[in-house]
Amino acid sequence: MDVIVRGAEVFTGEGPGQQLDVAFRGDRIAAVAPEIAGEAAEVIDARGLMLCPGFIDMHTHSALEAFHDPRLEAKIAQGFTCEVINPDGFGPAPVTDARVAERRAYLRPLEGPGPAEWRWRTLDEYHAALEQARPSSNLVPSIGHNAVRDCVMGGADRPATAGEIKAMRREIAKGLAAGARTFSLGLVYLPGVFSETEELIELAREAAPYGAPLAVHIRNEGAGVLEAAGEMIRVARESGAPLHISHLKVIGRPELIEPLLALIDEAGRDIDISFDQYPYTAGSTQLMALLPAWAQAGDSETVLARLADRQTRDAIATDLMEGLPGWESVYRACGPEAIYVANAAAERAEVIGRSLQEVAEEEGMSPIDTLFGILRDTRLDATMVNHYTTEEAVREVFKHPRQLIGSDGIFGERPHPRLYGTAARALGRYALREGLVPVHEVVARLTARAADRLELRDVGRLRVGLRADAVLLDPETYLDTATYDDPKRTPTGVVRVFVGGRTCWANGAHTGAREGVMVRTPRTRT
Ligand SMILES: [Zn+2]
Repeated sequence: MDVIVRGAEVFTGEGPGQQLDVAFRGDRIAAVAPEIAGEAAEVIDARGLMLCPGFIDMHTHSALEAFHDPRLEAKIAQGFTCEVINPDGFGPAPVTDARVAERRAYLRPLEGPGPAEWRWRTLDEYHAALEQARPSSNLVPSIGHNAVRDCVMGGADRPATAGEIKAMRREIAKGLAAGARTFSLGLVYLPGVFSETEELIELAREAAPYGAPLAVHIRNEGAGVLEAAGEMIRVARESGAPLHISHLKVIGRPELIEPLLALIDEAGRDIDISFDQYPYTAGSTQLMALLPAWAQAGDSETVLARLADRQTRDAIATDLMEGLPGWESVYRACGPEAIYVANAAAERAEVIGRSLQEVAEEEGMSPIDTLFGILRDTRLDATMVNHYTTEEAVREVFKHPRQLIGSDGIFGERPHPRLYGTAARALGRYALREGLVPVHEVVARLTARAADRLELRDVGRLRVGLRADAVLLDPETYLDTATYDDPKRTPTGVVRVFVGGRTCWANGAHTGAREGVMVRTPRTRT
């Protein structure tokens, strides 16, 4: 044996904890038993500690960050050893020569720039490049609707033709063959925002035979959330594909939480449905996402030209204040005092960490003009943290048995604290400290149940033969410490994190180990 962890309370991923020994040999779990005899290169006395399978983050924006900083410390430090990349329909691949510059500009605020040159075009080539970056975490790919639509139709702001739908289905099939575990959609982002329900049903038929969930950022997360969730339930029902709603929430309108969860329960009677959540009362995305879809259409030069034109700015401002049929203004729902700049290109670095309201007052402008100014000056390279709900609403969603956990962490200068805190907030604060949901239940959601959802057979459980990915925690002190004011703080209480049998985190620091694997085996056809 290389490592024996003795006497921890072991959560295998299923059921309550038991006092067991766990041994690793190479990158595998070699034994799980009440008492493991014999010697090992390293024996860890873990009495009083908790050992869990490595956590699985269902929704991450780490796909290009891995090229920049493959240690992915923000995630490893809280116990995540597996990250589902390219959610929200995004993806640096597949991409065409004609669209690569635009794709890169569009993804930059949320995903970062990636390597100096994008040499890949297909999803397979992109995965090979990621593999060469040797990340510390295992990466689980998705095939993104927006990426596929952009390949076939460019940024076109119209419904797809039958021929285009066929071509998109071919791209989705290639993505699934390249190892994608979900078909991800982001129906508020470009160009997915221009798709109609019929297109989604046709495309979902490609994912259905593989049991690959439609992992979707739904069209409306505010007043229209029930209709938007209903649309995807219909897509799942008609296509036969499982449904997984990303970062379930309601922006404003906490009274809609109960009917939303009831809708999911009802749908669960005849479709396979789950969702993930980050346990926070604020969200985070591109600052540009505040604009109505028509104002975001086209390439970034077109958007910047709109923002430079007085009349068009006035038209956008009217929509921000009044909304549009079928589109909800997050600007109006949250208000400029609750929208903070999380990251901005160097030209406007001074606004990072400040609210639109605060910056507007200083500039003597309206908050909407301030927003336009930041977007123009940064050439759209800015992100926000927007506060939209109450802690009670977050907990109501958290308690639901179909909940899984996705950090939705976005790297940047002053990120949303979910980037560093999600797992520790879920398990440490909500379960261990407050008993909101039983501890073993939250561990299952972070591990075995997530693995099953993604058809990952090699991780997610402490079981002989599986990959030696594990987290050793002190249940007394495991807690998120990242806050909105001080977001880059790693949780307390993480004693060790193992990836592929190697210690990746110990004594409050990353060891530099980079043993993550890129999942590239296709899902099986069901
Ligand atoms: Zn999203």
